[in-house]
Amino acid sequence: MAIASINPWDGSVLQTFAPLTDRELEAKLSLAATAFATYRQWSLPQRAAGLNRLAAQLLQQRDTWARTMTLEMGKPIQAALAEVDKCAWVCRYYAEQGAEFLQDQAGPLDSLPDGTVAQTWVRREPLGVILAVMPWNFPFWQVFRCLAPALMAGNALLLKHASNVPQTALGIEQLVTQAGFPPGVMQTLLIEAHRVAPLVADPRIRAATLTGSEAAGIALASAAGRALKKTVLELGGSDPLIILPSADLEMALTTAVAARMLNNGQSCIAAKRFILHEAIAPALIPRLVERFQALNMGNPLDPTTELGPLATPTLRDELHQQVTEMVRQGAQRLCGGQIPPSTGNFYPATLLTHLPPSARHIEFFGPVALVYVVPDLETAIATANDSPFGLGASAWTRDPQEQTQLLMGLEAGSVFINGMVRSDPRLPFGGTKQSGYGRELGEWGLLEFVNIKTLWVK
Ligand code: NDP
Repeated sequence: MAIASINPWDGSVLQTFAPLTDRELEAKLSLAATAFATYRQWSLPQRAAGLNRLAAQLLQQRDTWARTMTLEMGKPIQAALAEVDKCAWVCRYYAEQGAEFLQDQAGPLDSLPDGTVAQTWVRREPLGVILAVMPWNFPFWQVFRCLAPALMAGNALLLKHASNVPQTALGIEQLVTQAGFPPGVMQTLLIEAHRVAPLVADPRIRAATLTGSEAAGIALASAAGRALKKTVLELGGSDPLIILPSADLEMALTTAVAARMLNNGQSCIAAKRFILHEAIAPALIPRLVERFQALNMGNPLDPTTELGPLATPTLRDELHQQVTEMVRQGAQRLCGGQIPPSTGNFYPATLLTHLPPSARHIEFFGPVALVYVVPDLETAIATANDSPFGLGASAWTRDPQEQTQLLMGLEAGSVFINGMVRSDPRLPFGGTKQSGYGRELGEWGLLEFVNIKTLWVK
């Protein structure tokens, strides 16, 4: 795919970019390595001050970058503004908490056979240059949630962003420079996906992280495995949202629609499977259909738009193909499922039920929800877990015993009861099973890319 900004609302080409030549790429790698050597000497308060300046830059320029995101990948402008704010939050969070996570820790006194004692400590040192391969769906947030802890830890970062968000990618580098970090500590590489594997093998890159599809995760992890480099992978999901009879049904319903439609349905932690208890399903399903059909689909720059276009025509066509195939295999379409005649990569809010077994393997990356009706809690948990993915899960019930069973029984990186699955700078974020491994955010995310060094002195 060419590196280009193409407006998903009308298909207009906003700007195209030539990929880096091999020589340009080499120069950036070399600069990253030298920048790391300088930057690792920055004290923790200096790094924290840099992150606070970065947060300030983000807030000062929030309209510009929210608009750029919306123009490049179609997310509703209100969501884009909220995304910039959340990036400022994660910068401030690591500025405030990072020093504590990185503090030297005194270890045990080691008594030796000769009667003497050695002192021990544990230190957390930066690893070096980290390669981040990132997707277009949250083009600021996905980058900042690895960038902020990486910079706090003293690492340098090279960003290979998705090919359809190059202006956003270059904007992030510009913001980091404006915040006063040394040149080269964070650089954007405008390169195609096939150049990632050889890059990972370069000795100047110490580790890599990727958010995206399973296929991309496998490609990166294989290359990194061959070069013995650590990886963190945040991949796809098919999160269940369970509603049981004792729930606040109105809240559950509102959240289900919001959790599915967030970012035009293109979120790894979107609630993609609605699992409804049979006692309430007949009343809930028509209300879900009504809410889906009432969503305001339109220009994502219009603040009243609730459902914008999908990021690219290919993603829209692939989604439609998945829906068509489900229907061919016997699924029932409750609403949506047809490409509208308007220009832009629009896809309507779609509800499917009576799904074939093959649905469990698919991540529907757009405004499509699958409805399952179950007779009891045990079947709800079993249905939720009957998936190769294990990113997030949520459930609605007021019964404390049911809540405990759900918290214990659901196989996922996070379980939310009576709330929407979301990422929070203070809490670990990541998946199990095919949804990837490793954690981002909180202390856990920061510690993924440090050398935990044991010091022993007699
Ligand atoms: P990809 O996984 O292909 O893209 C994500 C990032 O990985 C991009 O920067 C991409 O670069 C890069 N990439 C792709 N292939 C490779 C490779 N072989 N080696 C190294 N890097 C690679 O996602 P798509 O945009 O193609 O979307 C396809 C599907 O992936 C979606 O329908 C959805 O199911 C899933 N997805 C999940 C996301 C999540 O948050 N979990 C986010 C995005 C997608 P380039 O753009 O140059 O190809």
